[in-house]
Amino acid sequence: MNTNRLSSDSTISQVSPLPRTSEDVTNFMIRRSRELVDELVKQRGREEPPFLAEELAPLQCIKEIVKTDLGEVDALLIRRKDGYIIKVNANSPATRQNYSCAHEIGHTFLHELERVPRFNNEELRCDESRVIGNSKERLCQIAAAELLMPHHIFKRYLEYFGVSVSSIERLAEEFKVSIHATAIRIAEVSPEPCIAIKWKPWQKTRSKGFIAKHMGKLIYVRDPSALFKAYQTDSAVKSFKSFEIGSIKKRCAMESKGFGRGKTRYVISLVFPGR
Ligand SMILES: [Zn+2]
Repeated sequence: MNTNRLSSDSTISQVSPLPRTSEDVTNFMIRRSRELVDELVKQRGREEPPFLAEELAPLQCIKEIVKTDLGEVDALLIRRKDGYIIKVNANSPATRQNYSCAHEIGHTFLHELERVPRFNNEELRCDESRVIGNSKERLCQIAAAELLMPHHIFKRYLEYFGVSVSSIERLAEEFKVSIHATAIRIAEVSPEPCIAIKWKPWQKTRSKGFIAKHMGKLIYVRDPSALFKAYQTDSAVKSFKSFEIGSIKKRCAMESKGFGRGKTRYVISLVFPGR
C-alpha cells in the first residue's frame, strides 16, 4: 500500500499516542471527528448546525460527492491517488444521504490508521483485527454521529429543547439528520440516563402489537398500549414500562411518539430509568 498518497497523512503523524485498543480506536474516531468539525467551524466562523457531510468532506481530502442510483447500497467510498470520491444513493432521503456520507468520512479515518507504519507490525495487526472484530461499521457510525451532531453543540441544543420525545423532530430538523439517529443521539448525550427505542408494528398469530430490539433482545408489547396510542395520534404519550436494565428489571418512565406515514410509520420511545 502506498503510504504517502494523501495530503492528510500528516495528520496522523501528529497523533500521539497511537490507538492500541478497541477503546483507543473508538476515542480516535471521536477525536478525528471533532477535529474535522472544529476545522469547519473555524473556516465558516459559526458553530450553529447543521454540519453537512458535503461541507465536512473537502476537509478530509474527499474531492467529490456524486449522487447516483446505487440500488440497495447507501454509499460507496472510492480511493483515488489524490483523495477520495463518495458515491451516495440519490434515491435515499436527504437526511440518510447526509448520514451515509458522514459514515464514509468515518472510513477515511480508519484508513489513516491503516497508513500508520506501526500498524504493519504484528502487534498492531492484532489491533487492526480488533477494529474488525469491533466492527468497522460501528466505528464509522460513531464517527458519523459525532460529525453531524457534535457532542458539545448537540448537548446545548438538547438543553434548550429539553430531553423529551417532543424535541426529536426539532433537533432532527436543526441537525439535518433522521428521527431515529436524533433519538439515539439524545440518549447518548442526555445528562440523565436515557434509552432510545424504535418500535415497529407487529402481528402475531393471535395478537397485534409492537416489536423492538433492546439490549440485543426482541421485546414485544401487545395492543392496547401507550405505544398503540402514540402510533394512532401525533402526540407524545407518557407511560411506565418494565425494562431489564443490566441484571435488574426496573419500572421506567417512558415517552413515546409516532413518526412517518402509512406502512413505514413507527414509534420512538425515550425511556428514563432514573425517573
Ligand atoms: Zn461502512
